[in-house]
Amino acid sequence: MDFDTIPKTLDRFRPPPNLTDYRQAYRDFDWQQARIKDQGGGINIAFEAVDRHVQEEQGAQPALVWLGKQGERRVYSYGQLQGLSNRFANLLTDLGVARGDAVFSLCGRTPPLYAALLGSLKAGNVFCPLFSAFGPEPIRSRMEIGDARVLVSSARLYHKKVAPWRSELPHLRQVLLYDCQGDCPAGCLDLDLALSEASEIFTNCPTQAEDPALLHFTSGTTGPPKGALHVHEAVIHHGYSAWCALDLHPGDVYWCTADPGWVTGTSYGVIAPLCNRVTLVVDEAEFDPERWYRILADERVNVWYTAPTAIRMLMKVGDELVARFDLGALRFMASVGEPLNPEAVVWGQRVFGMPFHDNWWQTETGGIMLANFAAEPVKPGSMGQPLPGIRAGIVQVDEQGQLTELTTPGQVGELALRLGWPSMFRGYLHEEARYRNCFKGNWYLSGDLAYRDQDGYYWFVGRSKELIKSAGHLIGPFEVESVLLEHPAVAEAGVIGIPDEVAGEVVKAFVALKPGYEPDDELLKSLLAHARKRLGPAVAPREITIKDNLPKTRSGKIMRRLLRARELGLPPGDISTLESDEGDLHEK
Ligand code: ATP
Ligand code: MG
Repeated sequence: MDFDTIPKTLDRFRPPPNLTDYRQAYRDFDWQQARIKDQGGGINIAFEAVDRHVQEEQGAQPALVWLGKQGERRVYSYGQLQGLSNRFANLLTDLGVARGDAVFSLCGRTPPLYAALLGSLKAGNVFCPLFSAFGPEPIRSRMEIGDARVLVSSARLYHKKVAPWRSELPHLRQVLLYDCQGDCPAGCLDLDLALSEASEIFTNCPTQAEDPALLHFTSGTTGPPKGALHVHEAVIHHGYSAWCALDLHPGDVYWCTADPGWVTGTSYGVIAPLCNRVTLVVDEAEFDPERWYRILADERVNVWYTAPTAIRMLMKVGDELVARFDLGALRFMASVGEPLNPEAVVWGQRVFGMPFHDNWWQTETGGIMLANFAAEPVKPGSMGQPLPGIRAGIVQVDEQGQLTELTTPGQVGELALRLGWPSMFRGYLHEEARYRNCFKGNWYLSGDLAYRDQDGYYWFVGRSKELIKSAGHLIGPFEVESVLLEHPAVAEAGVIGIPDEVAGEVVKAFVALKPGYEPDDELLKSLLAHARKRLGPAVAPREITIKDNLPKTRSGKIMRRLLRARELGLPPGDISTLESDEGDLHEK
C-alpha cells in the first residue's frame, strides 16, 4: 500500500486492507488539518456530517431513508438534510437561544429529531436526545440536570409526559412541538410551521474543538444515570472509527438499530455514518423480527449495527424466518452494548454467512474503542482489539491508589484507556468528583474487568461492580451466562452473586426460555447439569430461576443489580431506565 495516497483529512478515508495499514493511516492522519479545514479555525460536527458533502457536490445522495410505523417511506438527500437542519438552526437563533444553551429532544425516531440534532450543533448549542419511551420523571430529572433551555417534542409526547410539570423547570424557555395538527398548546411553538417559514441558508456557528456539543446520559445499568458531556472534536473519532470498525464507505446503506436517545444511536446512528457519506436507514417502529429482516432485505442494507439483546431475540425466533429474505446486500454486521455471547457470533455466521463483529465502548468514551475488525479474524466472545490510535491496557489499582499495568496475557484487571482520544467525555454534568475518580495518572478507568490474550484481543469478564466472589474464585457473570446460552432451551441469561455463609457469595442464574420449552423440573435439572459440566461446580450456578423475561434497561442491557435487589429484598434503586419485565415462572 502506498501510504502517500492515504488521505490526510477526515472526509477522505480509504479502505486499507488490514490492521497495520489502519494504524499507519491513523498516524498519517493530519488532525490539525482536519480541525481547521473550512472552519475558520474551528470544527463543527454538523459540518462534517452534512455540509461538507454538499460542498463537494454530493448533495443529491440520499442521506436518510425514513421508514414510518405505518409503512410510509421518505428519503432525504444530503442537500435536503442540510436545508432542514439550517432551518432549525435559524429558528434557534431567531428565538434568541444563546450559543452553549442546552436543546433537549423527546422525539421518536422521526425526521424532526434529525433536523433538531444537526441544527442545534450548527447553531452552537448542546444537544441532548432523550429516549421517547421514558416516563415523565426520568425526562424531568434529566432536563433538570442538563439545564434544558429548549425542548423539541411531538404534541402527543408533550401532553402526556411534560405538560404537567413544565412550569416548574426554570431554565426551560421554549417548547417546540411537531405534529400539532393545527392545535399548538399555549406557551409552545408549532415547529412544523416555524420550520416552513425559516430560511434554508445558515452560516454555522464557528465552534471550536473543545466546545460542548452533546450531552448523553448513561444507561443506568449499574446505578443512577450520569450525564456525560462531549465536545465538537469528538467528530474526528466518530468519522474515523465508523470507517475502520464498522467498515463504512461512501454510498453504503447502513442501519444502526439503536435509538438516538442513547449514545450509540447518535454517534453511530447519525453522526459517524453521515461523516462517511453513507445512506442511513431509520426505522420508527419498535423491534419486530419479521419487520427487521424485511428492512434488511428491502433496503438492501450493506452494514448493520445492532445489540446483543436484539440478536438473542432473533435467535429465539429461529432460523426459518430469516431464510425467507434475500439478505444478499449485507456485507458487515456489528454489535455493541453488552457482551456478545460466542453462541451469537456463531449463529450469525451460520444464518447470515458472516459473523457479528463485537465492539466495545461506553457513553464516556464517546466512540468505539475496541473492535473485531473487518480485516482481522473475529474471535467469538472477544470484544476485539484497540482501534488504531487507541491505547488500551489492563490495570490494577491497589489500596494505596497505586496503578500497575498488567501485561501478562490472561491476567484479569480493569480495562483502562490512555487519555487523549478526541471523543472522550469532558465531564459528568454537576458531578465533578465522580468525573475525577474515573482517572488515574494518564489512564481512564472504565469500571469493566477484562483480560487481553496473546494476540492482543480483549475479553470481557464483567463490570467490576458485578463481579462475584465465591469461595476464593472471582467469577464474571458473562462467562456463566454464555455457557447457559449454549443450552438449546435458553434465550437469555442473567447471573448475580448472592450472599452465602460459607462461600461468601454463590452464583445464582436467571434464564428466559426459547419458545416451545417447558419450564419444568426436568429442564432445570438439565440446565444445572449442563452448567456444572461446562463450568465446574465452583463456578456453576447454585440456583437457577426461569423467568418470562429478564429486567433490562431501555438500551437493552440486563439489569443484574435489579435481579439482585429483588432476590435479596432490597430497594430497587434508580429504575428510570428500566423496561418492564415479568415475574418468576419456576425456580430451582
Ligand atoms: P451505567 O454507567 O449508568 O451503569 P452503562 O455502563 O450500561 O450504564 P453505557 O455507557 O451505555 O452505560 O454502556 C457501557 C457499558 O456497556 C460498558 O462499560 C460495558 O460494561 C458494556 N458494554 C458495551 N459494549 C460491550 C461489549 N461489546 N462487551 C461487553 N460489554 C459491553
Ligand atoms: Mg457505565
